[in-house]
Amino acid sequence: FPTSLTDLVRGHIREIPDFPAPGVLFRDITPLLADGPAFGALVDGLAEKYRGRVDAVAGLESRGFILAAPLANALGVGMITVRKAGRLPGPVIGVDYALEYGTARMELRPETVRDGQRVLIIDDVLATGGTGAAAVKLIERSGGEVVALAMLLELAALGGRSKLEGHDVDAVLVY
Ligand code: AMP
Repeated sequence: FPTSLTDLVRGHIREIPDFPAPGVLFRDITPLLADGPAFGALVDGLAEKYRGRVDAVAGLESRGFILAAPLANALGVGMITVRKAGRLPGPVIGVDYALEYGTARMELRPETVRDGQRVLIIDDVLATGGTGAAAVKLIERSGGEVVALAMLLELAALGGRSKLEGHDVDAVLVY
């Protein structure tokens, strides 16, 4: 991504210590979303990178949806929703993964992915990589081909990339 896009994102992220739990430094993208020109420039910058390379954009619930919908629209392709457990009506497939405390599960309606479809996965933050890795499995099990994972922010110290080996991970801003 161009430096101008990285600087734009950096200037619109708020850092909140101890949210939602003690010891977590939460990276809040709401100032970026609330700024019309900045949000527009972000979507334009993402679209420029992936235009012609993808057949669908998969958003990861919840904040990934906010990015995936305008991006899919700008690219003229459809959007796939990868959701938290129990939100999608069936039939769904699911992948369980470990969190720091406990487990989580992401689900997908496999019929929303076509065989051989080139899919871009997008989310706001790459932390441990568990959510992204679950999304990759869901898309691939549904017959899709993951072109790349686009993340607004990557928290490099948490090593999320190692869970996504073999896939391109494009982060606009790396901490
Ligand atoms: P992970 O599965 O650990 O890569 O976590 C990714 C998900 O958790 C993303 O959907 C993020 O929205 C959220 N997340 C994890 N850590 C943070 C953080 N420090 N600030 C904001 N969101 C976070």
